Amino acid sequence: MSVLVVGSLALDTIETPFGSVKDTVGGSATYISAAASYFFSPVRIVGIVGGDFPREGVAFLEERNIDLEGLEIIEKGKTFHWAGRYRYDLNERDTLSTDLNVFEKFDPKIPERHRKSRFVVLGNIDPVLQQRVLRQMDNPRVVICDTMNYWIERKNKELLETLKQINVLILNDSEARLLSREPNLIKAGKVIRAMGPSVVIIKKGEHGALLLTESVIFSAPAYPMENIFDPTGAGDTFAGGFAGWLARTDDLSEENLKRAVIYGSTLASFCVEKFGVEGLRGLTYLQIQDRFRQFRELSRFDED
Ligand code: AMP
Repeated sequence: MSVLVVGSLALDTIETPFGSVKDTVGGSATYISAAASYFFSPVRIVGIVGGDFPREGVAFLEERNIDLEGLEIIEKGKTFHWAGRYRYDLNERDTLSTDLNVFEKFDPKIPERHRKSRFVVLGNIDPVLQQRVLRQMDNPRVVICDTMNYWIERKNKELLETLKQINVLILNDSEARLLSREPNLIKAGKVIRAMGPSVVIIKKGEHGALLLTESVIFSAPAYPMENIFDPTGAGDTFAGGFAGWLARTDDLSEENLKRAVIYGSTLASFCVEKFGVEGLRGLTYLQIQDRFRQFRELSRFDED
């Protein structure tokens, strides 16, 4: 079994009602691979950074035993930069700036020994690049894909092409409505499934996630948290936890997809407790298992 993650590695400037941080290490591939690494190792990453990507960023990925052969470093370039501000309701986020920088010329090259990876996670990047990655892969078992409003609005046609080539799409509620033009999330899921992916997961921020397949509607709760510092990366962390669990178990049954959704939510709950990637540092298997079990208690009740 093997897991390949392609996505952004970023410097993020984040403001929340509880504080702010400038140029901290982030990016979709960073969060996805760190989360997946708690279930499966080594996770392979493919991405690009500039000479300004800090040593701590690389060290963080190395600590998680992530295979960096596919990480391109453009010494003279600048790393992708994203800035966002969260409102008092942390589900509301305004993107203040997106500077593609080295990403603008990114042409993902999948190292030869990564091409047979069985699980591919396409982080939130230009759908044209997502397709270029898939063209280099040798018959992956599962392709899991994330996207966001930025691409739904700017590269809609290209995104629809990517959707035909994937198995699982993970997106949040507003993105699902935007992509499907359907306000009801169950109907939106059906519309999106008809676009290609047989499994659609719709994240609802602090209200949990919906797993939709041909025969299953599974509504996962969110972990009730009193201290959310920074929701950045929660969606990517969810995707990484989900993918990592599937790769670890190599089991695509509906029951295991449900478990994977809960493991994704578990990892995301650790992510939001601290700023940036800090929440994904040094978690123990026991901590993860303990929170996974608490999820079950959240919606368990007796019939009489
Ligand atoms: P999430 O909070 O899970 O939606 O992901 C936040 C991460 O996505 C941040 O670390 C950003 O660097 C990254 N990001 C934001 N916008 C984009 C974009 N247009 N393309 C690629 N990555 C992005």
